[in-house]
Amino acid sequence: MTSITKIRPQADDATSARGHMKIVIVGHVDHGKSTLVGRLIHDTGSLPEGKYEAIKAMSERRGMPFEWAFLMDALQAERDQGITIDTTQIWFKSEKRDYVIIDAPGHKEFLKNMVTGAASANAATLVIDAHEGIQEQSKRHGYLLHLLGVRQIAIAVNKMDLVNFDEAVFNKIEADFRAYLASFGVTPTFMIPVSARDGDNIVSRSERAPWYKGPTLVEALDGFEQVSAPTEQPLRFPVQDVYKFDDRRIIAGRIETGRLKVGDTLLFSPSNKKVQVKSIEAWSVPHAPSEAHAGQSVGITLSEQIFVERGDLASHADHPPIETDVFNARLFWLGRDALTVGKRYKMKLNTSEVQVTVQAITKVIDTDDLSSAASSRVERNSVAEVTLRARKMIALDDYSTLAETGRFVLVDNYDIAGGGIISMDGYADQRKLVTRASSNIQRVEHRITTDMREERHGHAGGIVWFTGLSGAGKSTIAVEVENRLHALGYQVYVLDGDNIRHGLNSNLGFSPEDRAENIRRIGEVAALFASAGVIAITSFISPYRSDRDRAREVAPDSFHEIYVKADVATCESRDPKGLYKKARTGEIAEFTGISAPYEAPEAPELVVDTANSSVDDCVQQVVDYVRENFSLESRRAKHGIWPPEFDI
Ligand code: ADP
Repeated sequence: MTSITKIRPQADDATSARGHMKIVIVGHVDHGKSTLVGRLIHDTGSLPEGKYEAIKAMSERRGMPFEWAFLMDALQAERDQGITIDTTQIWFKSEKRDYVIIDAPGHKEFLKNMVTGAASANAATLVIDAHEGIQEQSKRHGYLLHLLGVRQIAIAVNKMDLVNFDEAVFNKIEADFRAYLASFGVTPTFMIPVSARDGDNIVSRSERAPWYKGPTLVEALDGFEQVSAPTEQPLRFPVQDVYKFDDRRIIAGRIETGRLKVGDTLLFSPSNKKVQVKSIEAWSVPHAPSEAHAGQSVGITLSEQIFVERGDLASHADHPPIETDVFNARLFWLGRDALTVGKRYKMKLNTSEVQVTVQAITKVIDTDDLSSAASSRVERNSVAEVTLRARKMIALDDYSTLAETGRFVLVDNYDIAGGGIISMDGYADQRKLVTRASSNIQRVEHRITTDMREERHGHAGGIVWFTGLSGAGKSTIAVEVENRLHALGYQVYVLDGDNIRHGLNSNLGFSPEDRAENIRRIGEVAALFASAGVIAITSFISPYRSDRDRAREVAPDSFHEIYVKADVATCESRDPKGLYKKARTGEIAEFTGISAPYEAPEAPELVVDTANSSVDDCVQQVVDYVRENFSLESRRAKHGIWPPEFDI
């Protein structure tokens, strides 16, 4: 009997130079997955000699018409009986490279393998039956690929022979499915009309679909980018330990990706310190190496004694990891106790251990049928989309860009309770916000102090920071509060989103990074107003907790966070600027509350509930708050007496 191990190309130099790509093939039952795989293996000439003939003869003996799926069944049976040595993978080869089909006996195993790194696919083929059309399961598979960060997707619209290669049928499926995938930000790389049974557009171009100008399935797969070898990726060197050895300090760890050389400048994150590699230490070799690469465990010494500890992540400065204290994750939960919002876990990421809190559970996915639902709990063996928050900055990567440093486990009571992959969708890299670009800066002391200014104004300065969804009522309330406070004699000024974006922040867009920078600048400007003794009312959605916390840190004693609260449905029904409508049709991407997150404040100084109170009531609440908290008396209670009384 011929074994399928022979399908596996020999690992000689020729094949290894060609490289290989791991793909997963998914699709609704009966949409033709096995037939497609059978075809791929046969038409690419990857079958062991005689296999096809043997199966054909067998089906004739049994009086059954030949089916490509039999080929798969036969291969499967060999694997199940353990006849073959390589039991987990099926291979085929194109002219360009070799492909490994990642076996997915069930969604659960597939998800678990992808999340834990046991097996990962670089690309996917999703099969849809042209005759039956898009099924619920087709959609769920599309979502599954998104969940796992698989970005290279070829969609095979199969059984085109059953619809006479009708262009209109294909176009309709293509348009519908693209729109569905776009709803969560996925763009299929290719959509291809095929007949797996007859071999149209698998390896050879179909003559029955002259209207189709795109690639065949194998051409499409060949067009995908190979995930580069770990050594060719950006350097990630997680610090495992720091040893004192003679008078040297040796930083030891395993290089996960990339390479480093003596003389390279390394950036350590999250501490953001840069230092040169002085030497690479090696044991039991005659000469110290001058270079090391992914997969090697090494010790290095540095040109300067900087503080480095276990958990730090070294990289080169031009390709640093992301720095953040909040991120999204797709999590496979194995814990006996359900994962719940607000619970804290120890997260292990590379060599670091950090406490994280579950900020939100966006979606829970049933691993049997891939259906999803909103829930506040994640039970054992479920997959969920969650948002995790740490108390301090962590260095990490988005799984889809660097899998090795984009994957973590959560520990609950000393047990590994879940594995996850990181997605920064919707969240900013905060590195730039916490890195100073210049040094040698010295503050000039004013001779007029804030206290003196406040005395003259008759009230304290400070920041009244409005946060809330678009349409919640921030501008409406801010403008009216300004009006009333002005009438009462207050020095007050509203900083409003659109106004600031016309000037100071006209160079910023709406990406998570730009939003974060937008808020950083507002925080700084508002703090200047506060130190000038003025009440600055800021009216910005400011959806991210980290950004608002950073703004608070600039002027912690005079920062007052006001949550202008209204739910999405209420805001959408108001839609004063017509923005929700545009967001729903996809005209505006990354719209807060619809396609980008809004993180409500945890402990705001005041909440005004605009869904249930009138504009007038809301305004009055803020005015009352200011009158109570910005009087000179309350400031004196906080800061002491001005002018200071000296005992001479
Ligand atoms: P934002 O500045 O938060 O985007 P806007 O102030 O521009 O919101 O729009 C809020 C809309 O909601 C306005 O049309 C306003 O008249 C309406 N609205 C209804 N009730 C309230 C309320 N209690 N407070 C503020 N605005 C309200």
